Amino acid sequence: MRYTLNTIENERLPNYIGGVLRPPLSGRYLDSFNPATGQRWYQASDSGAEDAAAAVAAATAAAANPAWAEITQTARGEMMFRLADLIAENADTLAQIETRDNGKLLRETRAQVHYLAGYYRYFAGMADKLQGETPPFPKAKILNFTQREPLGVVVVIVPWNSPLYMMSCTVAPCLSVGNTVVIKPSEHTSASAIAFAELIERAGYPAGVVNIVTGFGNVAGEALVRHPGINKVAFTGGTETGRKIAANSAIHPVPCNLELGGKSPHVIYADADLERAVDGVIAGIFAAAGQTCVAGSRCFVEAAIYDEFVARLSDKTAKIRLGDPTDAHTEIGPLALKAQLEKAIRYAEYGVSDGAKLICGGKQPDDGALAGGWFFEPTIFSEASNNMRISQDEIFAPVLCVIRFDDEADLINQANDSRYGLAAGVWTKDINKALRFARAINAGTVWINTYRAASFISPAGGFKESGYGKHNGFEAMREYSRLKSVIIDYSNTTQDAFVIRL
Ligand code: NAD
Repeated sequence: MRYTLNTIENERLPNYIGGVLRPPLSGRYLDSFNPATGQRWYQASDSGAEDAAAAVAAATAAAANPAWAEITQTARGEMMFRLADLIAENADTLAQIETRDNGKLLRETRAQVHYLAGYYRYFAGMADKLQGETPPFPKAKILNFTQREPLGVVVVIVPWNSPLYMMSCTVAPCLSVGNTVVIKPSEHTSASAIAFAELIERAGYPAGVVNIVTGFGNVAGEALVRHPGINKVAFTGGTETGRKIAANSAIHPVPCNLELGGKSPHVIYADADLERAVDGVIAGIFAAAGQTCVAGSRCFVEAAIYDEFVARLSDKTAKIRLGDPTDAHTEIGPLALKAQLEKAIRYAEYGVSDGAKLICGGKQPDDGALAGGWFFEPTIFSEASNNMRISQDEIFAPVLCVIRFDDEADLINQANDSRYGLAAGVWTKDINKALRFARAINAGTVWINTYRAASFISPAGGFKESGYGKHNGFEAMREYSRLKSVIIDYSNTTQDAFVIRL
């Protein structure tokens, strides 16, 4: 690939617009850092409104280009199968770039990129499964059919925690349906998207079908969302940004899909398999250093086993290995941003001052080898209550609060007492109890005796302030298509022109 760890180092990365890698019209660049060392490793285009407009123009032209607009659905699928193969062939390069950019473990980014090849294959296969219906019409000699069409230009705004994965959750169904896209990666993690552009080209997508504009959210991102030429916004990121995006996309108005933050409850009943539950809770909060939207950051434990469970949890957490994210033995890498580290430190202080008991972590590691990076120890607060700041705010760091509950009603009240509704988990051997929890909890995904199990076929998306709209499965094809109804009268009869034909 043209862009690898070596060729990105100290490079000024361009945008990808209309099939061409080109420097930003703004002439500006922004610094991007390696979180494991705190050092700058490249500069990305700090695009302005003129770059955003150029990308929308390219996407608009591509949407009308017969080379894209008139190819068959099957051919669109074949193009995406080629893209999937290219992703699998170049998975290692893409994974290394992501790990250098956001500090996620290399073994996780590798697994994620390989999973992405499967993600694109699923949506490649879906391209010619998208079809309309023929609803019966309550009148003779009238035929009604529906057809699903592309929306046009979709703006895809991506966060930094899983850049290629989050981008692809939208890009795969969008291209499968026949849309064109303008992608705005996070200003903290621009490199993998620009490297990915080469694969788009090699897969055979016509120029302008996929465009990538990097830069700051309040400049390039806002210019894209407010552009009158777009047809939908797909946003994944924080709830406050989501509010602005919903307001800005209402200007024209175009629909938006919001995948926002979370503060997900993770519940342990006394009758659970405690060994598996401890591992589940640790994976739920400490994977990716707590920087996953579905992090099980509020752990509710039934009073009868509270002390025993907390002791097991802290024993295992104390053994977690922090370190270089490219080392195969590392279990937690650095936080992706310095601001995230500062937030984790601040919330650890809030936990103590609000009266919770700090039983693990709560600080940067003492290890001198990690001193330059943005590392934070896995942190557990016991004796937390659900109204504390550590229990109500999304910290997006390896910070867990453990809350006691007495009975089912108490649990449901506390677990639903959150402005978020993204995900939830419950561990119990009593399936009836688990299903009652799944029904009562206000969250878009519920895991029973597992956590963070994901599939490109399973619809995912939040409730409440965690957003609206769905990723994955056929739901995503609906999200990025529009339904048209066509009604044909083949009776050759004349009708009263002034009366609606009911
Ligand atoms: P963020 O909201 O700060 O930024 C996300 C993206 O929005 C970035 O590309 C940013 O440049 C852009 N942006 C910022 N302001 C904008 C504006 N006014 N107009 C247009 N674009 C703008 O989020 P982040 O810090 O990158 O990511 C962390 C957040 O993302 C967390 O809250 C996390 O829970 C959430 N997240 C949610 C999901 C999900 O599927 N629900 C998945 C991953 C992350």
